[in-house]
Parts: sequence; structure tokens; C-alpha cells
Amino acid sequence: MSVRELEDRFEVEVYPRRDIVIVRGEGALLYDEDGNEYIDCASNVGVSNIGHANPEVARAVHDQYLRLASCYGIFYNDVRAELSRRVVDITPKGLDRVFLCNSGSEAVEAAIKFARGSTGRKKIIAAMRGFHGKTMGALSATWDPKYTGPFEPMVPGFSHVPFNNIEMLKKTIGNDTAAVILEIVQGEGGVRVGDPAYFSGVRSICDEMGVLLIIDEVQTGFGRTGRMFACEGVVRPDILCLAKAMAGGVPMGAVVCAEDIDVPLKGHTSTFGGNPLACAAALATLDVIEREDLASAAAVKGERLKTGIRSFESPSIKEVRGAGLMIGIELKQNAGPYVKRLMENGIIALLAGKRVIRLLPPLVISEEQIDEVIRVLREVLE
Ligand SMILES: *Cc1c(COP(=O)(O)O)cnc(C)c1O
Repeated sequence: MSVRELEDRFEVEVYPRRDIVIVRGEGALLYDEDGNEYIDCASNVGVSNIGHANPEVARAVHDQYLRLASCYGIFYNDVRAELSRRVVDITPKGLDRVFLCNSGSEAVEAAIKFARGSTGRKKIIAAMRGFHGKTMGALSATWDPKYTGPFEPMVPGFSHVPFNNIEMLKKTIGNDTAAVILEIVQGEGGVRVGDPAYFSGVRSICDEMGVLLIIDEVQTGFGRTGRMFACEGVVRPDILCLAKAMAGGVPMGAVVCAEDIDVPLKGHTSTFGGNPLACAAALATLDVIEREDLASAAAVKGERLKTGIRSFESPSIKEVRGAGLMIGIELKQNAGPYVKRLMENGIIALLAGKRVIRLLPPLVISEEQIDEVIRVLREVLE
């Protein structure tokens, strides 16, 4: 059987498949089984920020596996200790403690539990079009009825208010609210950038009401939006959720929180969380992101890409928006056929909802590759 036939036959069908078998990657390039080359503008939804097959991360993973791959959290470990300090160092001031886990959903689950456990309150307010993952707790914070509907009932206590609308939040927040959870740029929801004035309003109302602010940077973190974290200079989180790009493609998530967030001993644990293998991968990944200043690179390259796209004379484009190398092209019609045509022309892009083409290239993408992406986009969209 072919690769396609094997996966179709033996896997639960939850991914709407693209007709391509990807077998290899290097930098910002991907290769299919026939050796065709593609420019990656998806990064596995924001995972591959440092590009594919980084030799430094490969060495770190290889060496650490031979030393110690797994070390349950009841034991101290040298590599985990180093990563924890590093994560606290690079995240905004006021975030002093880290809980390491394995995915974005898991980080959101932990954040919800920390907020409830620490405040003794039950309610969580999230935003319409927000996306926080698909495990039951994270899914309850996720908005899209397409994802939640088949799996009702959701975890009790969650409600959703319009994004970028402070008045509706003020009406909904109360003395029983444990936390507000928001993305700085809504990713799955269509690459919608939060207004800084909205976030300062959210911060004040949370302070006033004793409510914790959870910022979900699972997709926007680690340089993607042109800053190490998108919340920098925008809003101070009490709890920050991280994952996707954290360990260069090795599964890892983290919750970083204020020191006074009080979680009962054994209140949340994870068998794989903080395993030395992922920690070593994360440390090597952070070395690359910081040394090559990929956050600034994302700002500059994102501008080039966005300016290029904005110069198109295409009747199909409604709006081009985003931050850094997180860019959404909202069309007046369904974007699916355009994403398919991009792939046929050597560009792997994503959707964000029905009408938005989402571009999340590795932050190491070259200027020449960006120009090629612009050229193909122009061809397909004009
Ligand atoms: C992808 C994503 C998640 C879920 O992460 P998983 O690793 O798929 O569980 C949560 N929040 C945001 C903002 C995401 O983009």
C-alpha cells in the first residue's frame, strides 16, 4: 500500500488531508516523496520557527537521549533546572514560575486549573473566535461551535465574549470569575490582532475584580509576531501558555505564572512534562532564536511579505493583516481552492477559517524565498 493508503486505512480520520506526502525538510523548505520542493508557509501551524532539520537541535537531542531521556518530576534534573530558569528569564517580568508539559492544550488545561485552584473561583471568560486547543477543558475555552458541538456538554463555567470589546467583558466579569483567557493575535480564528487599548482595559478590569489574566501564546510565542512574546509591551499576563515552537519540533508546552499563583501539591502533574529530552531540545532552540535574533527577523521579513501582498491588485482580497510572520489574507470568497493552488505551485500555506489564507513561514525564511512566495501569491490571487 502507498503512504496515503496506509494512513487512510489505519488512522482515525480527524485531519482533512492535503494530497501530499511530506518526507523531509531543511530550513524553510519541505520535500515530498517524489523529491518536489515546497516553501513552507505553515511551519506545522507555528511549530517550526527555527526551520527544519536544525543541526544544533539535532545534536542536543541525540546527546541528551544518550545521557537521560526521561526523568519524572519528583526527581530533580540538571537540564530541566536550566530550562526553567531560562524560560523565566525570557518571559515578561512578573512571571516567575514554570510548569512544563507537552502540548498547547495541556498548557491551557494547566492554566485553567491553576486559575481555579488559586482563586477558589469557578468561571472562565474566553473570546469569540478564540482557540485554545481540543482537550475537554481547553475545548471549553475554544469558541467555534464546529469544534465543541459534537462533544457537548463542555466543562461548566465557561462563557465567551466578543474579542476587542471591553464593554462586553465588563458586563460579563464578576466576583465568581477566576480568569479571562485570550490570545494576543487570534490564530485559528482568522489572524485577528488584539487592540493594545483593549488589552490595557482587560488588564485594569482584571486587577479591579481580582481576576487572573491568562494569555495563550501557544501560536504567537517564540518570535513569531516580531517580538519574543506577542504580549511584550502590550499587556502583563498572570499566566502565560506556551508550546508549539518551544522545542524546535520536539513536543513541549509550558505554563509560566506569577509567583503568588498557588496550586496544591500534586494538584497538577505530567509524566512526560519537563522530560530532559524535550528540555535539551528547548534549550538548543532558544539558543538559535536568541543568537539569530529571529524575533527581529520576523518583524522585518513580515513587513516585506505584508507589503508585497498589499501591493496586489486583486479583487478577491478583502484585507491583509497580522504581526511579524503571522499573516492573514482575508478573501471575499472561500480560501480553500487558493491554498490548493498555492500548493500546486510550490507554496504550503494554511487556512484560518473559511476565507482566510494564513501564512506562518519558519522565521529563518530568506528574502529570496519571501519574494518567491509573493510572486506565486500574486499569480494565484490576481
Ligand atoms: C495550537 C494551539 C493550541 C493547542 O495546542 P496543541 O499543541 O495542538 O494542543 C492552543 N492555543 C492556541 C492559541 C493554539 O494556536
